[in-house]
Amino acid sequence: MVSQTVAFLGLGHMGGPMAANLVKAGHRVRGYDPAPAALEAASAAGVEAVASAAEGVTDAEVVISMLPTGRHVLDLYEGVLGSARPGALFVDCSTIDVADARAAHERAVAAGMRALDAPVSGGVVGAEAGTLTFMAGGSEEEFAEARPLLEAMGKKAVHCGGAGAGQAAKICNNMILGISMIAVSEAFVLGESLGLSHQALYDVASTASGQCWALSVNCPVPGPVPASPANRDYRPGFAASLMAKDLGLAANAVRSGGVHAELGLRAAELYASYAERAGATEDFSGIVRTIRDQSGEQK
Ligand code: NAD
Repeated sequence: MVSQTVAFLGLGHMGGPMAANLVKAGHRVRGYDPAPAALEAASAAGVEAVASAAEGVTDAEVVISMLPTGRHVLDLYEGVLGSARPGALFVDCSTIDVADARAAHERAVAAGMRALDAPVSGGVVGAEAGTLTFMAGGSEEEFAEARPLLEAMGKKAVHCGGAGAGQAAKICNNMILGISMIAVSEAFVLGESLGLSHQALYDVASTASGQCWALSVNCPVPGPVPASPANRDYRPGFAASLMAKDLGLAANAVRSGGVHAELGLRAAELYASYAERAGATEDFSGIVRTIRDQSGEQK
């Protein structure tokens, strides 16, 4: 393995452990985060803490960012592109709007850099264990160059197409997941009203045509799948606030593309209201409780 100098910008819940895995794989990682606690934790894991993002990128061959939103990514690129070494590869792993990902890519290229969007799935557990899945958008060459770094942080990296294709794959996948979790939850609540036990519905649907990840791995009711968040009072897992964010990005893309995706738009509304009211910190499968409560109110 060739050791590289990597700037890692954004050392939060995801970025911190991802940067630590690059250190473990033998890379020189220079990290920056405006939150002192995040910077200290990364530093304890072997990341060289720097005083600003611009300082971090100066001699980096690869610049990885893991930030909350597209606005953060575009502002960051604005601030550091002038300080980076010509031809550096910018890899943004944040989950952001497809349009923002394309704009970030264009700005990097206009400044003489190269770029890849590479959002992840697998959550904090996957970031810590180095088992994330990366979905990448950019050229074949850039993907091939980033691949060893992505593989040091994850178990799988898929090249999805040109600029923005990684973000596109991420929001399409999560639109399926959001809709299917609502479908599974509605089915359990309907089953309850019909006197059907959770276990009976699970035993049938998990081996029949209703089978899906939302049912057989992240089952929203306690019992049938012991490891699912429903068995630990809906501690995440995948927080409802993150699902609401991803469905919001999907809804933006649905609207701007003129796509007729009624369920995707409705799922975005339901998760936005659930995350705002009760579920910001709950696992997204906790939406079953909202569906149950609202069913009670309708009687
Ligand atoms: P987080 O809020 O824990 O971390 C983001 C970090 O970015 C913060 O520490 C913040 O201080 C830092 N930051 C903000 N502006 C910065 C700047 N200009 N330079 C450097 N650092 C800056 O968020 P997270 O949970 O780590 O998520 C990061 C991204 O990953 C998000 O886009 C999220 O949607 C995505 N994601 C998260 C999960 C998850 O389970 N947490 C799963 C998949 C994808």
